Amino acid sequence: MPKAKIARERPAVFPAPDHDHSRCSADAMAVAEALCEERGERLTPIRRKVLAALLGSHKALGAYEIIERLVPGNGDNPRSRLAPITAYRALEFLREHGLVHRIESRNAFVACVHNHAAGDLVVFLICERCGGVGEASSADVAATLASAARAAGFTPKSPVIEISGICTHCRAA
Ligand SMILES: [Zn+2]
Ligand SMILES: [Zn+2]
Ligand SMILES: [Zn+2]
Repeated sequence: MPKAKIARERPAVFPAPDHDHSRCSADAMAVAEALCEERGERLTPIRRKVLAALLGSHKALGAYEIIERLVPGNGDNPRSRLAPITAYRALEFLREHGLVHRIESRNAFVACVHNHAAGDLVVFLICERCGGVGEASSADVAATLASAARAAGFTPKSPVIEISGICTHCRAA
């Protein structure tokens, strides 16, 4: 079942460099809002800011890069920075709800712009040139992994696959 009941086009795995990213990030924010409302959770200003920082691009950002991108809002002390623990808590919330993924091999986070279910197998395609992260999903891969795990008597939790390489736009360049 999809995360939230919002009709969206399925975004490309690697959106073209000239795609309408403001629309893409606004759609993802709308999904996040709808999902929090559905689940009776609050998308607090901090959680929203952290998600917005990640939605600024389709690249993975480390926690400190996220903090650096957070511009203090109106009424905030311009020199106040988000405490790392606060950023991690917000990231934890966003991850729990499937709005953000952690890229283990980079120790970084990426906003999920795909409306997939929390337990779905996700294959992260990480571009070594531009840092873009694409999410590919394949029911065949999921089935193969599930049967391999079953044959080993193994119960997998949330299967995540990370593959480094060159994205379609960097290859064309
Ligand atoms: Zn985009
Ligand atoms: Zn995702
Ligand atoms: Zn690339």
